[in-house]
Amino acid sequence: MYKIELSSDDVPKKWYNINSDLPSEIPMPQNSEGKQQIENLSKVFSKGVLEQEFSQERYIAIPKPVREIYQRMGRPSPLFRAKGLEEKLNTPAKIYYKREDLSPTGSHKLNSAIAQAYYAKKDGIERLTTETGAGQWGTALSLACSLMDMDCTIYMVKVSYDQKPFRKVIMEVYDGKVHASPSENTEYGKKVLSENPNHPGSLGIAISEAMEEAIEYDNVYYSLGSVLNHVMMHQTVIGLELKKQFEMIEKEPDVMIACVGGGSNFSGAMFPFMKDKLKGNSDCQFITVEPSSCPTLTKGNYEYDFGDANGFTPMLKMFTLGHDFIAPSVHAGGLRYHGMSPQVSLLSKEGYIEPRSASQEEVFKCGVLFAKSEGVLPAPETTHAIKAAIDEALKCKETGEEKTIMMNFSGHGLLDLKGYENFISGDLLSTGD
Ligand SMILES: *Cc1c(COP(=O)(O)O)cnc(C)c1O
Repeated sequence: MYKIELSSDDVPKKWYNINSDLPSEIPMPQNSEGKQQIENLSKVFSKGVLEQEFSQERYIAIPKPVREIYQRMGRPSPLFRAKGLEEKLNTPAKIYYKREDLSPTGSHKLNSAIAQAYYAKKDGIERLTTETGAGQWGTALSLACSLMDMDCTIYMVKVSYDQKPFRKVIMEVYDGKVHASPSENTEYGKKVLSENPNHPGSLGIAISEAMEEAIEYDNVYYSLGSVLNHVMMHQTVIGLELKKQFEMIEKEPDVMIACVGGGSNFSGAMFPFMKDKLKGNSDCQFITVEPSSCPTLTKGNYEYDFGDANGFTPMLKMFTLGHDFIAPSVHAGGLRYHGMSPQVSLLSKEGYIEPRSASQEEVFKCGVLFAKSEGVLPAPETTHAIKAAIDEALKCKETGEEKTIMMNFSGHGLLDLKGYENFISGDLLSTGD
């Protein structure tokens, strides 16, 4: 079977919350000295998501309106066998990929955007602010707000704003208001620009700008596209569907791979399988892949740090490169974040995850090979997962093992063509690592 499909009825009715099954308790967020960031949280987040953030319930019901929108937006997403890639590599391994690129906004991000917009609307909120790197999260939240009849303001990291102009157009089609960050719109943005008018921006700075606005206005909340526990949980619809899909073909993945920016597509696809591993019922290998130019899990420190550049957020215990880290302008804008989900960080620290990194040149090569053999053009972020899947499949070629490899296909690259253009013309090195 090359395409393993579920029906609308199979959209999960509950999200899986890994908090209840972690090997040790997740360290709580902290205020920095003399500051009250934790108190800020209830000003900028909905009651619904804050409750989920700290919940210890193993399963949390997906509200009916959210589940219906999941269905209308095309969930469940199909699982594909990458037969063409297997043949190109001449490997005995079986490679599968979960098609999150088939969401109307082109990535997995809509899974959390819908839930976050729903809970904000329930609190009577009129507008959401957010950050976006490559534009995937901003696009998803713009659509979710449009579906819920709310306004949306997006701070888009300046380099991506320049690299991916058509992302802005889609957000505007969905009525999102897009600012290049750092912007003149906020006090923090002005401060950064006064020090460096040509600042390329960072996700940390864009988060500070979006939060500043949400703290200032009563009818505005802030929404984060990754990192936090509730975002990881919303994404578990991916992995819960995957469980059923692998049951249908009577297989279990031996290796599961995803790229990591803040950790949400990895967590969403893997946590329902990680549950079995944490209980000692599975030997599945979990691999994360990040850019070697932003090596959070492979080279960062496991310590308390802010989620944003300015210190509006509480400090989270996570792998971090430091909140003032400015990643080189690689095309995988969604992977240029200084920190990492505290849940993913804990699991990595405890040895349940094998973190890897890869250079921009290597991953684009793998992305092009994938497109040529499977037809789908991957997002620059997704090419990182493809790199590890190819490496694992080539190992199987040497050993003769017929492993089942699953990679999460987090998004398509049809709006990232500048990166592919640079790769084809041999100009990629000048733009990043
Ligand atoms: C945002 C994004 C990522 C990285 O974010 P995670 O939270 O780690 O999933 C990866 N791929 C795509 C296509 C994205 O849009």
